[in-house]
Amino acid sequence: MKALTWHGKRDVRVDTHPDPIIKDPTDTIIKVTSTGLCGSDLHLYEVLGPFLTEGDILGHEPMGIVEEIGSAVTDLEVGDRVVIPFNISCGDCFMCGQGLHSQCETTQVREQGMGASLFGYTKLYGGVPGGQAEYLRVPFADKLPIKVPKGPADDRFLFLSDVLPTAWQGVEYAAVPPGGTLAVIGLGPIGDMCARVAQHRGVEKVIGIDLVDERLTRAASRGVHTLDLREHGANLADAVRELTNGRGADSVIDAVGMEAHGAPVASLAQRAVGLLPDAAAEKMMRKVGVDRLEALRLAIDIVRRGGTISLVGVYGGMTDPLPMLTLFDKQIQLRMGQANVHRWVPDLLPLLTDDDPLGVDTFATHKIALTDAPEAYGMFQRKENGAVKVVFTP
Ligand code: NAD
Ligand code: ZN
Ligand code: ZN
Repeated sequence: MKALTWHGKRDVRVDTHPDPIIKDPTDTIIKVTSTGLCGSDLHLYEVLGPFLTEGDILGHEPMGIVEEIGSAVTDLEVGDRVVIPFNISCGDCFMCGQGLHSQCETTQVREQGMGASLFGYTKLYGGVPGGQAEYLRVPFADKLPIKVPKGPADDRFLFLSDVLPTAWQGVEYAAVPPGGTLAVIGLGPIGDMCARVAQHRGVEKVIGIDLVDERLTRAASRGVHTLDLREHGANLADAVRELTNGRGADSVIDAVGMEAHGAPVASLAQRAVGLLPDAAAEKMMRKVGVDRLEALRLAIDIVRRGGTISLVGVYGGMTDPLPMLTLFDKQIQLRMGQANVHRWVPDLLPLLTDDDPLGVDTFATHKIALTDAPEAYGMFQRKENGAVKVVFTP
């Protein structure tokens, strides 16, 4: 089969790999029909190289048709249409029972001290081959795949794998009080969907912050009050306070993570991620003038006293010094983590209808053949051609 594989920093290629096969009787093989490109893939493309091995298959947002099932699978049939959650959860353990599927105790990556395994996310998360490929082996076939109806185009359901549950959890964790204001930092696919979900759930005032024209325009067209980081610069927090009675936003979502000003973090500092002792890595980052916490610092600044920050963006460092005094003194609530996909599926499925309140049918800006994925990674990273959500069709 053809699959998108990692070969080095900003070097991904479409290679030929052996087709996956059933290994456990509870496995299924999916023929992938659509598969998303995510900001999380950009971390692998740019920053997390040290965790990758040449030839690793990337991708964690696939959907498709069941091609084969293991001998012990009872609830899935060949031909079923399924979306695959990005994190791998068994559905049976204590954590899955708590709705904390991203902490699944069956698939936890203990040797790395990490939570549930992820598709296509390197040995840091279990070394599981990813879904930007023609076929994918999926474990826990009776529990993990989300069965969806046939009929509507893939886009109707595809974003259940990551974007929708991530945004839903982001808004849930943001705990916007009635009549309150939510500020969303970063209007990539995740921030954009966070704003949509918040509006759908009744948040009247959503402020969106980014520095890419198409992303600002797209959010503004759906009623988000946008602020351009390029225009407001160091005074951005003042602009937010002006919109919020001088106090700051009741809740803030950081949908950026370890990215500085829309550009990849300087390469020297990237090599420090997870490789050097804390102090040495921090020194190196300071030397190259990189502040990986830029968006989070902004969140801490613009949240009102006693407000909540919901951290959706991924930070991969072990060294980032947090302004603890400010966090403590402002009495900030901080919640974060990978989305517990299955937990939010019952809330989301009823919204994936012809009425399309979240705009999923037109959410993707680019549909690209998997064979052209390497160029698409570059385009998405550089935010060219109005790319917000890119979907590959194997
Ligand atoms: P993206 O890279 O397309 O979006 C990031 C956006 O932030 C871009 O539009 C960029 O212009 C903007 N930005 C950069 N620096 C900024 C700053 N200082 N202030 C304001 N905006 C800034 O990625 P995405 O797909 O939208 O993902 C966003 C983040 O969410 C990533 O870190 C990704 O890894 C993470 N993520 C987390 C989960 C989860 O389960 N928690 C799931 C999916 C993605
Ligand atoms: Zn993703
Ligand atoms: Zn589990």
